[in-house]
Amino acid sequence: MDGSIATSLDHLQTVFDRQKQAFSFATVPSLKERKAMLKRLETLFAGHKDELVAAIAKDFGSRSPMETLSAEVAMSVINARSIRKNLDDWGRKRRVWNHSSIPGKTYVRYEPKGVVGVIAPWNYPFQLAAIPLTTALAAGNSVMLKPSEITPYTADFMKEMFAKEFEETQVAVLTGGTEVGEAFSSLPFDHLFYTGSTQVGRLVAMAAAKNLTPVTLELGGKSPTILLDDADIEKSAQTIAMGKFYNAGQTCVAPDYLLVPQGKGDAYASAILEAVGNFYPDIAGNEDYSAIVSDRHYVRMTDMIDEAAKSGAQVRQAEADGQKMSAGRKVPPTVILNPSADSKVMQEEIFGPVLPIIEVGSTDEAIAHVTARDHPLALYAYSRDEKAAEAVLDRTTSGGACINGTLMHVSVDDIPFGGVGKSGYGAYHGERGFREFSHERSVLVMPKWLPPKLLTPPYTNFFKNMVNKQIGK
Ligand code: NAD
Repeated sequence: MDGSIATSLDHLQTVFDRQKQAFSFATVPSLKERKAMLKRLETLFAGHKDELVAAIAKDFGSRSPMETLSAEVAMSVINARSIRKNLDDWGRKRRVWNHSSIPGKTYVRYEPKGVVGVIAPWNYPFQLAAIPLTTALAAGNSVMLKPSEITPYTADFMKEMFAKEFEETQVAVLTGGTEVGEAFSSLPFDHLFYTGSTQVGRLVAMAAAKNLTPVTLELGGKSPTILLDDADIEKSAQTIAMGKFYNAGQTCVAPDYLLVPQGKGDAYASAILEAVGNFYPDIAGNEDYSAIVSDRHYVRMTDMIDEAAKSGAQVRQAEADGQKMSAGRKVPPTVILNPSADSKVMQEEIFGPVLPIIEVGSTDEAIAHVTARDHPLALYAYSRDEKAAEAVLDRTTSGGACINGTLMHVSVDDIPFGGVGKSGYGAYHGERGFREFSHERSVLVMPKWLPPKLLTPPYTNFFKNMVNKQIGK
Protein backbone atom coordinates (compact mmCIF):
# COMPACT_ATOMS: atom_id res chain seq x y z
CA MET A 1 0.00 0.00 0.00
CA ASP A 2 1.19 3.53 -0.75
CA GLY A 3 1.71 4.63 2.78
CA SER A 4 2.20 7.90 4.48
CA ILE A 5 5.61 8.14 6.06
CA ALA A 6 5.68 6.66 9.53
CA THR A 7 6.59 9.21 12.15
CA SER A 8 9.92 8.44 13.79
CA LEU A 9 9.55 7.60 17.46
CA ASP A 10 12.00 10.42 18.29
CA HIS A 11 9.83 12.91 16.45
CA LEU A 12 6.74 11.61 18.24
CA GLN A 13 8.41 12.25 21.59
CA THR A 14 9.62 15.69 20.47
CA VAL A 15 6.13 16.79 19.42
CA PHE A 16 4.70 15.51 22.70
CA ASP A 17 7.34 17.39 24.70
CA ARG A 18 6.65 20.57 22.71
CA GLN A 19 2.89 20.34 23.28
CA LYS A 20 3.42 19.66 26.98
CA GLN A 21 5.75 22.62 27.29
CA ALA A 22 3.43 24.93 25.38
CA PHE A 23 0.32 24.01 27.34
CA SER A 24 -0.37 26.22 30.32
CA PHE A 25 -3.51 26.59 32.39
CA ALA A 26 -2.69 30.28 32.57
CA THR A 27 -3.08 30.72 28.80
CA VAL A 28 -6.03 28.48 27.98
CA PRO A 29 -8.01 30.16 25.16
CA SER A 30 -11.17 31.91 26.37
CA LEU A 31 -14.61 30.58 25.38
CA LYS A 32 -14.84 33.45 22.88
CA GLU A 33 -11.53 32.47 21.29
CA ARG A 34 -12.57 28.83 21.22
CA LYS A 35 -15.86 29.72 19.50
CA ALA A 36 -13.89 31.58 16.83
CA MET A 37 -11.67 28.51 16.42
CA LEU A 38 -14.74 26.26 16.06
CA LYS A 39 -16.07 28.56 13.35
CA ARG A 40 -12.70 28.22 11.57
CA LEU A 41 -12.98 24.43 11.84
CA GLU A 42 -16.49 24.45 10.35
CA THR A 43 -15.19 26.46 7.41
CA LEU A 44 -12.09 24.29 7.12
CA PHE A 45 -14.06 21.02 7.01
CA ALA A 46 -16.77 22.31 4.66
CA GLY A 47 -14.19 24.06 2.48
CA HIS A 48 -12.23 20.84 1.93
CA LYS A 49 -15.18 18.57 1.18
CA ASP A 50 -14.07 17.81 -2.36
CA GLU A 51 -10.52 16.99 -1.32
CA LEU A 52 -11.88 14.73 1.42
CA VAL A 53 -14.18 12.92 -1.02
CA ALA A 54 -11.17 12.38 -3.30
CA ALA A 55 -8.73 11.27 -0.59
CA ILE A 56 -11.15 8.78 0.99
CA ALA A 57 -12.12 7.41 -2.43
CA LYS A 58 -8.42 6.85 -3.15
CA ASP A 59 -8.00 5.02 0.13
CA PHE A 60 -11.02 2.77 -0.37
CA GLY A 61 -10.57 2.31 -4.11
CA SER A 62 -14.17 3.47 -4.32
CA ARG A 63 -16.17 5.23 -1.64
CA SER A 64 -19.62 6.69 -2.21
CA PRO A 65 -19.21 10.49 -2.40
CA MET A 66 -22.59 10.94 -0.67
CA GLU A 67 -21.44 8.68 2.16
CA THR A 68 -18.28 10.74 2.58
CA LEU A 69 -20.21 14.01 2.45
CA SER A 70 -22.85 12.85 4.95
CA ALA A 71 -20.91 10.65 7.38
CA GLU A 72 -17.55 12.40 7.30
CA VAL A 73 -17.95 16.05 6.33
CA ALA A 74 -21.51 16.92 7.43
CA MET A 75 -21.24 15.11 10.76
CA SER A 76 -17.96 16.88 11.55
CA VAL A 77 -19.35 20.30 10.60
CA ILE A 78 -22.57 19.71 12.60
CA ASN A 79 -20.53 18.69 15.64
CA ALA A 80 -18.30 21.78 15.51
CA ARG A 81 -21.32 24.04 14.97
CA SER A 82 -23.31 22.50 17.81
CA ILE A 83 -20.42 22.88 20.25
CA ARG A 84 -19.86 26.48 19.14
CA LYS A 85 -23.51 27.35 19.71
CA ASN A 86 -23.58 25.78 23.16
CA LEU A 87 -20.08 26.51 24.39
CA ASP A 88 -21.02 29.52 26.54
CA ASP A 89 -23.52 27.33 28.35
CA TRP A 90 -21.44 24.13 28.62
CA GLY A 91 -18.16 25.89 29.40
CA ARG A 92 -19.25 28.33 32.11
CA LYS A 93 -18.79 27.48 35.74
CA ARG A 94 -21.87 25.69 37.04
CA ARG A 95 -23.31 26.61 40.43
CA VAL A 96 -24.20 23.53 42.45
CA TRP A 97 -26.50 23.75 45.45
CA ASN A 98 -24.58 22.92 48.62
CA HIS A 99 -26.87 20.59 50.60
CA SER A 100 -24.23 19.77 53.19
CA SER A 101 -23.85 21.27 56.61
CA ILE A 102 -20.45 22.65 55.55
CA PRO A 103 -21.02 26.36 55.04
CA GLY A 104 -19.99 27.97 51.77
CA LYS A 105 -20.94 28.22 48.09
CA THR A 106 -20.08 25.47 45.64
CA TYR A 107 -19.56 25.33 41.92
CA VAL A 108 -17.88 23.26 39.21
CA ARG A 109 -15.39 24.68 36.71
CA TYR A 110 -14.90 22.96 33.36
CA GLU A 111 -11.21 23.06 32.59
CA PRO A 112 -9.07 21.44 29.91
CA LYS A 113 -7.13 18.32 30.81
CA GLY A 114 -4.00 19.35 28.90
CA VAL A 115 -2.50 17.37 26.01
CA VAL A 116 -4.95 14.87 24.50
CA GLY A 117 -4.06 11.93 22.25
CA VAL A 118 -6.55 10.69 19.63
CA ILE A 119 -6.07 7.34 17.84
CA ALA A 120 -8.43 6.89 14.88
CA PRO A 121 -9.48 3.90 12.72
CA TRP A 122 -9.85 3.64 8.94
CA ASN A 123 -13.57 3.04 8.39
CA TYR A 124 -14.63 6.71 8.67
CA PRO A 125 -11.08 8.05 8.64
CA PHE A 126 -12.01 11.73 8.76
CA GLN A 127 -15.06 11.91 11.01
CA LEU A 128 -13.64 9.61 13.69
CA ALA A 129 -10.55 11.83 13.85
CA ALA A 130 -12.23 15.24 13.37
CA ILE A 131 -15.00 14.96 15.98
CA PRO A 132 -12.79 13.97 18.94
CA LEU A 133 -10.16 16.48 17.81
CA THR A 134 -12.73 19.32 17.56
CA THR A 135 -14.28 18.46 20.92
CA ALA A 136 -10.93 18.22 22.70
CA LEU A 137 -9.91 21.62 21.29
CA ALA A 138 -13.28 23.12 22.27
CA ALA A 139 -12.60 22.02 25.84
CA GLY A 140 -9.31 23.98 25.69
CA ASN A 141 -6.85 21.11 25.19
CA SER A 142 -4.15 20.65 22.60
CA VAL A 143 -4.33 17.52 20.46
CA MET A 144 -2.04 14.92 18.93
CA LEU A 145 -3.83 12.76 16.35
CA LYS A 146 -2.71 9.37 15.05
CA PRO A 147 -4.81 8.35 12.04
CA SER A 148 -4.98 4.81 10.67
CA GLU A 149 -2.23 3.57 8.37
CA ILE A 150 -4.90 1.71 6.32
CA THR A 151 -6.15 5.05 4.93
CA PRO A 152 -2.86 6.87 4.18
CA TYR A 153 -4.21 9.42 1.68
CA THR A 154 -6.72 10.72 4.20
CA ALA A 155 -4.06 10.67 6.93
CA ASP A 156 -1.66 12.72 4.80
CA PHE A 157 -4.44 15.09 3.79
CA MET A 158 -5.41 15.72 7.42
CA LYS A 159 -1.77 16.24 8.33
CA GLU A 160 -1.38 18.91 5.68
CA MET A 161 -4.75 20.55 6.34
CA PHE A 162 -4.26 20.87 10.11
CA ALA A 163 -0.62 21.95 9.73
CA LYS A 164 -1.76 24.93 7.62
CA GLU A 165 -4.36 25.92 10.21
CA PHE A 166 -2.69 25.26 13.56
CA GLU A 167 0.66 25.52 15.28
CA GLU A 168 2.12 22.06 15.91
CA THR A 169 1.96 22.84 19.64
CA GLN A 170 -1.84 22.98 19.41
CA VAL A 171 -2.66 20.31 16.80
CA ALA A 172 -0.25 17.73 15.40
CA VAL A 173 -0.96 14.74 13.16
CA LEU A 174 1.46 11.83 13.55
CA THR A 175 1.17 9.15 10.89
CA GLY A 176 2.21 5.52 11.16
CA GLY A 177 1.06 1.99 11.94
CA THR A 178 1.23 -0.39 14.88
CA GLU A 179 4.71 0.63 16.04
CA VAL A 180 3.79 4.31 16.12
CA GLY A 181 0.43 3.40 17.69
CA GLU A 182 2.18 1.51 20.50
CA ALA A 183 4.60 4.36 21.19
CA PHE A 184 1.78 6.90 20.92
CA SER A 185 -0.42 5.12 23.48
CA SER A 186 2.55 4.87 25.86
CA LEU A 187 2.96 8.67 26.03
CA PRO A 188 1.77 10.21 29.32
CA PHE A 189 -1.16 12.11 27.80
CA ASP A 190 -3.65 13.90 30.02
CA HIS A 191 -6.39 11.99 28.18
CA LEU A 192 -6.27 9.33 25.47
CA PHE A 193 -9.20 8.81 23.10
CA TYR A 194 -9.15 5.57 21.12
CA THR A 195 -11.49 4.30 18.40
CA GLY A 196 -10.92 0.85 16.93
CA SER A 197 -11.11 -2.84 17.67
CA THR A 198 -11.75 -4.29 21.12
CA GLN A 199 -8.51 -6.27 20.85
CA VAL A 200 -6.28 -3.22 20.27
CA GLY A 201 -8.39 -1.14 22.66
CA ARG A 202 -7.35 -3.47 25.47
CA LEU A 203 -3.64 -2.91 24.61
CA VAL A 204 -4.17 0.86 24.51
CA ALA A 205 -5.90 0.83 27.91
CA MET A 206 -3.03 -1.22 29.38
CA ALA A 207 -0.39 1.16 27.97
CA ALA A 208 -2.31 4.19 29.29
CA ALA A 209 -2.75 2.60 32.72
CA LYS A 210 1.03 2.70 33.22
CA ASN A 211 0.79 6.50 33.14
CA LEU A 212 -2.61 6.65 34.89
CA THR A 213 -3.84 8.36 31.73
CA PRO A 214 -7.66 8.40 31.58
CA VAL A 215 -8.94 6.70 28.44
CA THR A 216 -12.05 6.75 26.30
CA LEU A 217 -12.48 3.50 24.37
CA GLU A 218 -14.82 3.53 21.37
CA LEU A 219 -14.77 -0.12 20.33
CA GLY A 220 -16.74 -2.55 18.18
CA GLY A 221 -18.66 -5.78 18.53
CA LYS A 222 -21.68 -7.53 17.08
CA SER A 223 -24.70 -5.21 17.12
CA PRO A 224 -27.93 -7.23 16.98
CA THR A 225 -31.26 -6.35 15.38
CA ILE A 226 -34.36 -7.87 16.94
CA LEU A 227 -37.48 -8.02 14.80
CA LEU A 228 -40.66 -8.52 16.81
CA ASP A 229 -43.49 -10.55 15.36
CA ASP A 230 -45.54 -7.50 14.37
CA ALA A 231 -42.68 -5.67 12.60
CA ASP A 232 -43.41 -4.52 9.05
CA ILE A 233 -41.08 -6.73 7.01
CA GLU A 234 -40.82 -4.57 3.90
CA LYS A 235 -40.36 -1.29 5.77
CA SER A 236 -37.88 -2.74 8.27
CA ALA A 237 -35.90 -4.34 5.46
CA GLN A 238 -35.26 -0.94 3.89
CA THR A 239 -33.69 0.69 6.95
CA ILE A 240 -31.82 -2.50 7.85
CA ALA A 241 -30.39 -2.72 4.31
CA MET A 242 -29.42 0.95 4.45
CA GLY A 243 -27.60 0.44 7.79
CA LYS A 244 -25.91 -2.76 6.68
CA PHE A 245 -24.75 -1.75 3.21
CA TYR A 246 -23.84 1.88 3.89
CA ASN A 247 -20.04 2.03 3.47
CA ALA A 248 -20.35 -1.66 2.46
CA GLY A 249 -20.98 -2.65 6.07
CA GLN A 250 -17.72 -1.16 7.34
CA THR A 251 -19.49 0.69 10.13
CA CYS A 252 -19.02 0.06 13.84
CA VAL A 253 -22.77 0.34 14.48
CA ALA A 254 -23.90 -1.58 11.36
CA PRO A 255 -26.59 -4.16 12.18
CA ASP A 256 -24.34 -7.19 12.49
CA TYR A 257 -27.07 -9.88 12.38
CA LEU A 258 -30.88 -10.18 12.54
CA LEU A 259 -32.94 -12.20 14.99
CA VAL A 260 -36.32 -12.80 13.31
CA PRO A 261 -39.41 -14.84 14.28
CA GLN A 262 -39.35 -18.53 13.29
CA GLY A 263 -40.50 -19.02 9.71
CA LYS A 264 -39.87 -15.40 8.63
CA GLY A 265 -36.18 -15.68 7.71
CA ASP A 266 -36.85 -16.23 4.04
CA ALA A 267 -39.27 -13.29 3.82
CA TYR A 268 -36.72 -11.00 5.49
CA ALA A 269 -33.93 -12.21 3.19
CA SER A 270 -36.08 -11.53 0.11
CA ALA A 271 -37.21 -8.11 1.37
CA ILE A 272 -33.61 -7.08 2.10
CA LEU A 273 -32.38 -8.18 -1.32
CA GLU A 274 -35.31 -6.39 -2.92
CA ALA A 275 -34.40 -3.20 -1.05
CA VAL A 276 -30.80 -3.64 -2.23
CA GLY A 277 -32.03 -3.99 -5.82
CA ASN A 278 -33.81 -0.66 -5.49
CA PHE A 279 -30.83 1.05 -3.83
CA TYR A 280 -28.20 -0.18 -6.29
CA PRO A 281 -29.71 -1.27 -9.65
CA ASP A 282 -26.16 -1.83 -10.91
CA ILE A 283 -23.82 -2.70 -8.07
CA ALA A 284 -20.41 -3.09 -9.65
CA GLY A 285 -20.33 0.30 -11.33
CA ASN A 286 -22.47 2.11 -8.79
CA GLU A 287 -20.64 4.94 -7.03
CA ASP A 288 -23.11 4.70 -4.12
CA TYR A 289 -21.91 1.20 -3.25
CA SER A 290 -18.51 1.44 -1.57
CA ALA A 291 -15.56 -0.92 -1.92
CA ILE A 292 -13.82 -2.95 0.77
CA VAL A 293 -10.88 -0.96 2.12
CA SER A 294 -8.01 -3.37 1.35
CA ASP A 295 -7.18 -6.72 -0.23
CA ARG A 296 -6.72 -8.25 3.22
CA HIS A 297 -10.17 -7.11 4.36
CA TYR A 298 -11.67 -8.26 1.03
CA VAL A 299 -10.26 -11.78 1.40
CA ARG A 300 -11.48 -11.96 5.01
CA MET A 301 -14.99 -11.15 3.78
CA THR A 302 -15.05 -13.65 0.91
CA ASP A 303 -13.58 -16.33 3.22
CA MET A 304 -16.38 -15.71 5.72
CA ILE A 305 -19.02 -16.13 3.03
CA ASP A 306 -17.35 -19.30 1.63
CA GLU A 307 -17.11 -20.84 5.08
CA ALA A 308 -20.82 -20.25 5.76
CA ALA A 309 -21.78 -21.69 2.35
CA LYS A 310 -19.59 -24.79 2.86
CA SER A 311 -21.16 -25.42 6.24
CA GLY A 312 -24.58 -25.66 4.58
CA ALA A 313 -26.07 -22.26 5.40
CA GLN A 314 -28.21 -20.68 2.68
CA VAL A 315 -26.22 -17.81 1.15
CA ARG A 316 -28.13 -15.35 -1.05
CA GLN A 317 -26.44 -12.47 -2.84
CA ALA A 318 -27.58 -9.50 -4.86
CA GLU A 319 -26.92 -10.04 -8.54
CA ALA A 320 -23.73 -8.36 -9.71
CA ASP A 321 -21.06 -8.76 -12.34
CA GLY A 322 -18.58 -10.98 -10.43
CA GLN A 323 -15.51 -9.99 -12.39
CA LYS A 324 -16.15 -6.27 -12.17
CA MET A 325 -16.98 -6.61 -8.48
CA SER A 326 -13.75 -8.37 -7.52
CA ALA A 327 -11.70 -6.04 -9.74
CA GLY A 328 -13.22 -3.11 -7.82
CA ARG A 329 -12.82 -4.93 -4.48
CA LYS A 330 -16.56 -4.91 -3.97
CA VAL A 331 -18.43 -7.69 -2.16
CA PRO A 332 -22.07 -8.05 -3.22
CA PRO A 333 -24.70 -7.46 -0.53
CA THR A 334 -25.10 -10.90 1.02
CA VAL A 335 -27.62 -12.46 3.38
CA ILE A 336 -26.95 -15.78 5.12
CA LEU A 337 -29.90 -17.72 6.52
CA ASN A 338 -29.38 -19.56 9.79
CA PRO A 339 -25.56 -19.97 9.75
CA SER A 340 -24.16 -22.26 12.43
CA ALA A 341 -23.34 -20.67 15.76
CA ASP A 342 -19.64 -21.57 15.42
CA SER A 343 -19.20 -20.04 11.95
CA LYS A 344 -17.04 -16.90 11.64
CA VAL A 345 -20.04 -14.75 10.68
CA MET A 346 -21.57 -15.55 14.08
CA GLN A 347 -18.32 -15.44 16.04
CA GLU A 348 -16.56 -12.30 14.77
CA GLU A 349 -17.73 -8.75 14.16
CA ILE A 350 -18.52 -8.92 10.42
CA PHE A 351 -17.60 -5.34 9.40
CA GLY A 352 -18.63 -5.91 5.79
CA PRO A 353 -21.75 -6.28 3.60
CA VAL A 354 -22.83 -9.66 4.94
CA LEU A 355 -25.97 -10.10 7.02
CA PRO A 356 -26.77 -13.33 8.89
CA ILE A 357 -30.45 -13.91 9.62
CA ILE A 358 -31.21 -16.18 12.55
CA GLU A 359 -34.71 -17.47 13.23
CA VAL A 360 -35.72 -17.62 16.89
CA GLY A 361 -38.77 -19.15 18.57
CA SER A 362 -39.72 -16.08 20.62
CA THR A 363 -38.73 -12.59 21.72
CA ASP A 364 -37.47 -14.18 24.95
CA GLU A 365 -35.13 -16.37 22.90
CA ALA A 366 -33.87 -13.33 20.95
CA ILE A 367 -33.19 -11.48 24.20
CA ALA A 368 -31.47 -14.52 25.72
CA HIS A 369 -29.23 -14.69 22.61
CA VAL A 370 -28.19 -11.07 23.08
CA THR A 371 -27.70 -11.10 26.86
CA ALA A 372 -25.56 -14.27 26.67
CA ARG A 373 -23.00 -12.34 24.60
CA ASP A 374 -20.74 -9.28 25.04
CA HIS A 375 -22.57 -5.99 25.43
CA PRO A 376 -22.89 -4.59 21.88
CA LEU A 377 -22.20 -1.05 20.68
CA ALA A 378 -25.72 -0.74 19.22
CA LEU A 379 -28.98 -2.63 19.42
CA TYR A 380 -31.89 -2.26 17.02
CA ALA A 381 -35.48 -3.28 17.79
CA TYR A 382 -38.36 -3.21 15.31
CA SER A 383 -42.05 -3.31 16.13
CA ARG A 384 -45.24 -1.44 15.15
CA ASP A 385 -45.69 -0.99 18.89
CA GLU A 386 -43.03 1.39 20.24
CA LYS A 387 -43.65 0.20 23.81
CA ALA A 388 -42.98 -3.42 22.82
CA ALA A 389 -39.73 -2.37 21.16
CA GLU A 390 -38.77 -0.40 24.24
CA ALA A 391 -39.48 -3.45 26.41
CA VAL A 392 -36.60 -5.11 24.51
CA LEU A 393 -34.34 -2.27 25.67
CA ASP A 394 -35.58 -2.76 29.25
CA ARG A 395 -34.22 -6.31 29.23
CA THR A 396 -30.89 -5.76 27.43
CA THR A 397 -28.00 -3.30 27.33
CA SER A 398 -25.95 -1.75 24.54
CA GLY A 399 -23.92 1.41 23.94
CA GLY A 400 -26.81 3.04 22.07
CA ALA A 401 -30.03 1.92 20.46
CA CYS A 402 -32.43 2.82 17.69
CA ILE A 403 -36.08 1.77 17.48
CA ASN A 404 -37.44 1.09 13.98
CA GLY A 405 -34.25 2.21 12.30
CA THR A 406 -30.51 1.66 12.21
CA LEU A 407 -27.37 3.84 12.37
CA MET A 408 -29.20 7.17 12.54
CA HIS A 409 -28.91 7.58 16.31
CA VAL A 410 -25.17 8.16 15.83
CA SER A 411 -25.88 11.14 13.58
CA VAL A 412 -27.80 12.94 16.33
CA ASP A 413 -25.02 14.95 17.91
CA ASP A 414 -27.13 15.86 20.95
CA ILE A 415 -27.14 12.36 22.44
CA PRO A 416 -24.03 10.62 23.83
CA PHE A 417 -22.25 8.08 21.66
CA GLY A 418 -20.21 5.34 23.32
CA GLY A 419 -20.05 1.67 24.20
CA VAL A 420 -20.65 -0.41 27.29
CA GLY A 421 -18.65 -3.41 28.48
CA LYS A 422 -16.60 -4.87 25.62
CA SER A 423 -17.86 -2.21 23.19
CA GLY A 424 -16.02 0.45 25.18
CA TYR A 425 -16.29 3.04 27.90
CA GLY A 426 -16.64 6.79 28.06
CA ALA A 427 -18.71 8.63 25.46
CA TYR A 428 -18.68 11.72 23.24
CA HIS A 429 -20.67 13.84 20.76
CA GLY A 430 -22.23 17.13 21.77
CA GLU A 431 -22.25 18.08 25.43
CA ARG A 432 -21.17 14.60 26.55
CA GLY A 433 -18.03 14.96 24.46
CA PHE A 434 -17.25 18.37 25.91
CA ARG A 435 -17.54 16.88 29.42
CA GLU A 436 -15.37 13.88 28.44
CA PHE A 437 -12.48 16.13 27.45
CA SER A 438 -12.90 18.49 30.40
CA HIS A 439 -11.76 18.19 33.95
CA GLU A 440 -14.64 18.89 36.33
CA ARG A 441 -12.97 20.90 39.04
CA SER A 442 -15.08 21.22 42.18
CA VAL A 443 -14.77 24.40 44.20
CA LEU A 444 -16.01 25.32 47.67
CA VAL A 445 -15.72 28.97 48.70
CA MET A 446 -15.64 29.18 52.48
CA PRO A 447 -17.65 32.07 53.89
CA LYS A 448 -15.72 35.06 55.16
CA TRP A 449 -17.79 35.19 58.36
CA LEU A 450 -16.69 31.70 59.46
CA PRO A 451 -14.10 31.85 62.26
CA PRO A 452 -11.52 29.06 61.56
CA LYS A 453 -11.62 27.91 65.19
CA LEU A 454 -15.20 26.63 64.66
CA LEU A 455 -13.75 23.79 62.58
CA THR A 456 -10.42 23.13 64.31
CA PRO A 457 -9.42 21.29 67.55
CA PRO A 458 -10.22 21.60 70.33
CA TYR A 459 -13.64 20.85 68.82
CA THR A 460 -16.36 23.30 69.67
CA ASN A 461 -20.05 22.63 70.17
CA PHE A 462 -20.59 24.08 66.69
CA PHE A 463 -18.41 21.32 65.22
CA LYS A 464 -19.93 18.57 67.40
CA ASN A 465 -23.46 19.64 66.48
CA MET A 466 -22.54 19.72 62.81
CA VAL A 467 -21.17 16.15 62.92
CA ASN A 468 -24.17 14.92 64.93
CA LYS A 469 -26.48 16.47 62.36
CA GLN A 470 -24.57 14.73 59.57
CA ILE A 471 -24.86 11.36 61.33
CA GLY A 472 -28.51 12.01 61.98
CA LYS A 473 -28.54 12.19 65.77
P1 NAD B 1 -7.64 -1.19 14.83
O1 NAD B 1 -7.88 -1.41 16.27
O2 NAD B 1 -6.91 -2.19 14.05
O3 NAD B 1 -6.88 0.20 14.59
C1 NAD B 1 -7.31 1.42 15.10
C2 NAD B 1 -6.12 2.32 15.33
O4 NAD B 1 -5.26 1.75 16.30
C3 NAD B 1 -5.27 2.57 14.09
O5 NAD B 1 -4.88 3.93 14.07
C4 NAD B 1 -4.07 1.66 14.32
O6 NAD B 1 -2.89 2.10 13.69
C5 NAD B 1 -3.92 1.76 15.83
N1 NAD B 1 -3.20 0.63 16.42
C6 NAD B 1 -3.02 -0.61 15.93
N2 NAD B 1 -2.32 -1.37 16.79
C7 NAD B 1 -2.06 -0.59 17.87
C8 NAD B 1 -1.40 -0.80 19.11
N3 NAD B 1 -0.87 -1.98 19.43
N4 NAD B 1 -1.36 0.22 19.97
C9 NAD B 1 -1.92 1.42 19.69
N5 NAD B 1 -2.55 1.68 18.53
C10 NAD B 1 -2.62 0.68 17.63
O7 NAD B 1 -9.11 -0.94 14.30
P2 NAD B 1 -9.58 -0.75 12.83
O8 NAD B 1 -9.43 -2.01 12.07
O9 NAD B 1 -8.95 0.50 12.27
O10 NAD B 1 -11.14 -0.45 13.06
C11 NAD B 1 -12.10 -1.44 13.10
C12 NAD B 1 -12.67 -1.64 14.48
O11 NAD B 1 -12.98 -0.39 15.07
C13 NAD B 1 -13.98 -2.40 14.47
O12 NAD B 1 -14.01 -3.29 15.55
C14 NAD B 1 -15.02 -1.32 14.68
O13 NAD B 1 -16.24 -1.76 15.24
C15 NAD B 1 -14.30 -0.39 15.57
N6 NAD B 1 -14.86 0.96 15.47
C16 NAD B 1 -15.49 1.48 16.54
C17 NAD B 1 -16.06 2.73 16.44
C18 NAD B 1 -16.77 3.37 17.59
O14 NAD B 1 -17.03 4.56 17.49
N7 NAD B 1 -17.07 2.68 18.66
C19 NAD B 1 -15.97 3.44 15.24
C20 NAD B 1 -15.31 2.86 14.18
C21 NAD B 1 -14.74 1.63 14.30
